[in-house]
Amino acid sequence: MAARTLASCIFCKIVKGDIPSFKLLETELSFSFLDINPLSKGHALIIPKNEVHAEKMHELPDEYIQDAMPIAKKIAIAQGAENYNILQNNGRLAHQEVPHVHFHVIPKPNEEEGLG
Ligand code: 5GP
Ligand code: ZN
Repeated sequence: MAARTLASCIFCKIVKGDIPSFKLLETELSFSFLDINPLSKGHALIIPKNEVHAEKMHELPDEYIQDAMPIAKKIAIAQGAENYNILQNNGRLAHQEVPHVHFHVIPKPNEEEGLG
């Protein structure tokens, strides 16, 4: 279940400002920032804040899930992304590397732009 901040968690540290990040948008419930190892230019992450550490989406209170999607929409619009993926991995076998719930917003570059 959702717990308080986890001292060893990278994303809890990012919310607290203990690890620097390139912040995009912040609301009362969520924090969004650029992915450090982007799959494409503008690859963003949205995470719950308020010292809420939850590993998987089903452990996260609904209000945090509901807060995240409008942020994903704003990011996609701000980036002018015509093609993009919203991705959310839960558990190691589902390719979750950071065990703090996060939503990816991954713009797809136009074909002529290539990756990056
Ligand atoms: P996952 O595979 O867990 O769904 O995705 C985790 C994402 O977090 C990866 O895309 C990875 O590049 C990103 N990431 C891991 N550590 C950091 C970090 O310290 N800062 C930022 N901005 N992104 C991170
Ligand atoms: Zn955490």
